[in-house]
Amino acid sequence: MPILPSGLRDFWQRLLTQPDALMLELGAGGELLVARIRAVLSMLLLLLPLINLLSGGKYSETMIGLTGAILAIVMSQIWLALARQQGRFRWLPYATATYDVTLTTLVLVALAFDSPATGLNSMVVWVFYLISIAMTALRNDGRLTLYAGVLALLQYALLVLLVFQLVGNPDRLASIEYGIATVSNQVQRMVLIALMTALTTTIVYRMQRLVDMSGTDGLTGLPNRTWLVHRFPSVLDAARESGGSLSVCLIDLDYFKRINDELGHLAGDRALRHVVDVLQQQLEEGDWLTRLGGEEFALLLPMPLGRAWERLESMRRTVASQPFQPETGADLMRLTFSAGIAVWPQEGADLSALLRRADIRLRQAKQEGRNRVLARDP
Ligand code: GH3
Ligand code: MG
Ligand code: MG
Repeated sequence: MPILPSGLRDFWQRLLTQPDALMLELGAGGELLVARIRAVLSMLLLLLPLINLLSGGKYSETMIGLTGAILAIVMSQIWLALARQQGRFRWLPYATATYDVTLTTLVLVALAFDSPATGLNSMVVWVFYLISIAMTALRNDGRLTLYAGVLALLQYALLVLLVFQLVGNPDRLASIEYGIATVSNQVQRMVLIALMTALTTTIVYRMQRLVDMSGTDGLTGLPNRTWLVHRFPSVLDAARESGGSLSVCLIDLDYFKRINDELGHLAGDRALRHVVDVLQQQLEEGDWLTRLGGEEFALLLPMPLGRAWERLESMRRTVASQPFQPETGADLMRLTFSAGIAVWPQEGADLSALLRRADIRLRQAKQEGRNRVLARDP
């Protein structure tokens, strides 16, 4: 008996595992967005001491606010410069989340030194814990959200404990502007931080599910065209870094319309899944099979043209040798495909150029009688 229901298990699994390359790429975009938001918020921080001064607040509070705001502006510009490197520094989201949470704590500590009740009851500063946690959602990594939430909770709990310990006189935990800091209202604040963490984690989980769904083909479970278009640049980068080649294979099943006409659309769907199963069994590390649409597939093989042809030719023979059975007892049907291959960098610099080249060869393969793989122009 599983201890957790499958939905919850999936939730925890996704939350605690490293997001895949596509999610990390989206996360790097999110980090840049967060860095920009942080830069704007830091500028706005300047308004707080100004308002405090104009509304007759204490001079010491104004000075604390002003120093904090200037420091925050300088730091936010440094984070922005690092985030512009788009995912080059894997540690950056953790560093910035630590910074956001710790800066909030430090400002609260500074306020508490001045007046303990202000440190514990200031809403405007405390709310930055919640903002910091919410902003982790844009990085698409549940582990980061959990980290920021736990860090905020620990730092705030420590601050509250210290203030309650150090301030012997309970009268000092009351102020006219900020009210009375009681154990119960401090516990409420910690519960709110925990709730915000749980809520943000759920948002990250839902976002990851949506990204997965938008990049996955519902019938076969393969990555789809959207996924391919987004992922292709990083596959190319990997090929570039390893100094290798990348072969793009365009595969189209032969006479597929006949299956639908003779056996119906549902059997056609099963036939598609059958071919995908056979192809998937032959995939190796670094290969990517995607469904472009209909009964057309793109296969990325990180190897030169000659070796890619041999691999795909062997796949073609295996598909032809493993016939599809529409239902138990029914006659077996042989399914075949035709394919064209083009190779990066010699025959195209980007995905559409390579697919166009591969398509010319695919059409030639169809003309020559189908059930064949072509890697050269006619
Ligand atoms: P060719 O050898 O020239 O490729 O012949 P073909 O019959 O495969 O021709 P074509 O590629 O033009 O037609 C593809 C057919 O595949 C059209 C459509 O009926 C069928 N098809 C496309 N997507 C699906 C699907 O998701 N499910 C089913 N059952 N059929 C599909
Ligand atoms: Mg077709
Ligand atoms: Mg076809």
